[in-house]
Amino acid sequence: MSAAGLEVAAPKKSCEDERCPFHGGLKVRGKLISGKAVSTSGSGFVVVQLEYLHKVRKYNRSERRRSRISAHLPACLDVREGDSVTIAECRPLSKTISFVVVQSRGAS
Ligand SMILES: [Zn+2]
Repeated sequence: MSAAGLEVAAPKKSCEDERCPFHGGLKVRGKLISGKAVSTSGSGFVVVQLEYLHKVRKYNRSERRRSRISAHLPACLDVREGDSVTIAECRPLSKTISFVVVQSRGAS
C-alpha cells in the first residue's frame, strides 16, 4: 500500500495537480483497471483501451471485445501511446471522465 490507498507505487515526480490522487485532493474508490493507452493527444487526459473476452454460451466460445475509457492524467505521470497503464475510478471529473491514471508501466 502506498499513497491514496492504492496498491501501486507513487510516482517519482511530484506535481501541483489538484486532481492527482498522490499530490492533490482527488479520492479514488471503486474499480482499478489495467489497459493500454491508445491516444495521448488530449491535454490532461488519455484514452485507455480495455480488451476482454465475452463468453457466448450458445456456441460455447469466447469473443474478443474492447472498450475505451477516458482517464485524467495527473501532471506527475508520463504516458506515451502504447503504454500499459492502471486507472482507478474516481468521482466524475467531466462528462466523460471518471477515471484517473495511477500508474504507467511503459510499453508492453
Ligand atoms: Zn501528482
